[in-house]
Amino acid sequence: MSNFPNSIVALAAMLERGWESYRAQGEFDLFVEFTLSLNGLTEQLHRQHLPGLVRACQELENTALTFFADREMHPIPLDQAIAIERKLSIILGELRRHETPAILARRVLDTAEGNTGEGWKQPRRVVIVARDGHPWSASLAEQLGFFGFTPEAISWDAQPASEEPPLAITFIPDTEGRAYPPAAIAAIVALRTRFPTSYFYCLSVPSNLQSIVLLQRAGADACVPVGNKVSDVLSRILDLVEMHEQEMHRVLIVEDSATAVAHIRRSLSQHGIDSRAINDPRQLLEVANEYRPDAILMDMYMPFCTGVEVTSALRQIPEFQALPVIYLSSETDIVQQVEALRLGGDQFLTKPVNPIILASVVKTKIERYREMLYSGQHDSLTGLLNHSTSKSQVERLLQAALPDGELVVAMIDIDRFKMVNDTYGHPVGDQVIRSMAWLLRGRLRNTDLIGRYGGEEFIVALADIEPAHAIRLLEQIREDFSQLPHAHAQGTLRTTFSCGVAALPTYRSASALIGAADDALLEAKRAGRNRIISA
Ligand code: GH3
Ligand code: MG
Ligand code: MG
Ligand code: MG
Repeated sequence: MSNFPNSIVALAAMLERGWESYRAQGEFDLFVEFTLSLNGLTEQLHRQHLPGLVRACQELENTALTFFADREMHPIPLDQAIAIERKLSIILGELRRHETPAILARRVLDTAEGNTGEGWKQPRRVVIVARDGHPWSASLAEQLGFFGFTPEAISWDAQPASEEPPLAITFIPDTEGRAYPPAAIAAIVALRTRFPTSYFYCLSVPSNLQSIVLLQRAGADACVPVGNKVSDVLSRILDLVEMHEQEMHRVLIVEDSATAVAHIRRSLSQHGIDSRAINDPRQLLEVANEYRPDAILMDMYMPFCTGVEVTSALRQIPEFQALPVIYLSSETDIVQQVEALRLGGDQFLTKPVNPIILASVVKTKIERYREMLYSGQHDSLTGLLNHSTSKSQVERLLQAALPDGELVVAMIDIDRFKMVNDTYGHPVGDQVIRSMAWLLRGRLRNTDLIGRYGGEEFIVALADIEPAHAIRLLEQIREDFSQLPHAHAQGTLRTTFSCGVAALPTYRSASALIGAADDALLEAKRAGRNRIISA
C-alpha cells in the first residue's frame, strides 16, 4: 500500500482497526466509527479517480448502513459480519495490490529527462471481450494502443491470462442491438467475481431498462447505448485515468457557537472535507476571498446580524452569487425557513445535524456548484479549457513564473482540417479534434495548461521546463499524432498538425507569448505544415 497517498493508507489502516474493534466488542458506537471511516475512504478513492474501488466501497457502505438505524441490532449476526468481512478484505486486498493511476501513469515529463516514448505504465491493461474476429475488437485495440494502453482481446468463453486486475474490461456483444444472451451475462458475472475493482463497460446495450438492470446486476459499471461505438468507449476509458486529483471540498462555517463549530468541523473532516470557521459574519468577505470556499454553512442567529441578512448581502456580490449557502439552525419554524431560502439560501439543516447527512448535503451541493463552474470553463467537445479560461490561465502561469522562472507557450493547429470535414463529414472532423485533445491530455502533465483555443486550434502552456525539452516533447506528440488512425465509414484517415512555440524570457507578457507563438505557427504553415517552429 506504500504507493498510495498517505491519506488513503491511513484511512485503510483505520478502517481495518475499526472493524477489528467492533468485532471484538460489538458496540454500536464502534460500528458507527467504522462506517464513518469507510465513508471517508470512499471519498478519498473517489478523489483519486478509482471508480472500481469506489464501487466496492459503496457496496460495503450500503451493507453497513442496513445496520445503522438501530442500536439493538448490535452486535450483528455472525453470518452478516462474515459477509462484511469478506467485502472488506477484498477492498483492503485490492488496495495493497494496486497502485493508483495517479502515481502509475506518471506523465512523460515527470519521468527521466528525454523519456518521451512510454508515458504510461502498468496497470493500464484493458481487456476486450468479443467473439473472435469481431471488427470492433481490432479497431478498439488499435486505438487503445495509440493512447498508451495495453489491450488484450479474449473470446467470451476465455479468461484473461494475468491475475492482475485490468483497468477496464469492455464487452462487445455478437449482435448489435439485442439484449445480452444468458451466456454473456454469465461471463460478465464470472469476470466480476474475479476482478471486483476493474471498470466494466458493456457496448451496444439496447435502451431499455430491463437490459440495463440485468447488466448492472451482473456487474457492469457503464452501459454504452447502441449506436455509440469505439470512440465513445475510448473517451470513457481516458476519463477513467484522467488523474487530476480533485481538489478537496472546502467549506466555510459562519457560526458563533464554538461547540457547534467543533462538532461540525469534526463531522466534515471525517468525510474528507476541509473547513474553516469564523464566528463573526463581518469577517466573511475577507476570509471567503482568501479561502475560496465551495460552500458556506451559515448559522441563523449570530450577535451582529442574522444568517439570512449575511446571505442576501453576499448574493449582491457577483463572485458569490452562485456559491451554495446551507443554513444551520435549531429553528423549526417553517415560515422562517421558507423566508431564509427565499432570500438566497440553498438548504436548511436543523442542529444538531447528523454527520452523515451534513456531509452528504455539503458534498452534493459542492459537486453541483463545481459542475456549474466546470461547464463555464471547459469546452464540451473535448473537455479542455475553453478560449477565455485558457487565456486567463496563461496569465496566471506567467505571474507564477515571473521574474525568472520558465514558461513555454505553444499554439497547435490541425493541418488542412477543412479537407477532413469536406471529405469525411463534420462528425469525423469532431472525432479528430477529440483525439488531438486526448493525445495532449495523455501526454502532458497535470500542471500543464491545455485549452481549445478555436475550432481546430489548441493552446498549451508548460511551466518549469526548458524550451528545448518542451519542443522535444511536442515533437514526439506531433510524430505520434501523424501516425494516429482516425476511423471513418470507409476505413481510417491520418492527419497532422503544425505548431508555433514561444517562451520566457524572450516574451514577457501573456499576449506577447501567445502572439509570438501564433506568428511561429503561421510560419510553420507556410513552411509546409506538420512541423514545429520556435519564435
Ligand atoms: P490549415 O492547414 O491552413 O490550418 O488549413 P485548415 O483547413 O485546417 O484551416 P481552415 O482555417 O481553412 O479551416 C478550419 C476548419 O475547421 C473550418 C471549420 O469548418 C472547421 N471547424 C472549426 N471548428 C470545428 C469543429 O468543432 N468541428 C469540426 N468538425 N470542424 C470544425
Ligand atoms: Mg448562533
Ligand atoms: Mg487548420
Ligand atoms: Mg485554424
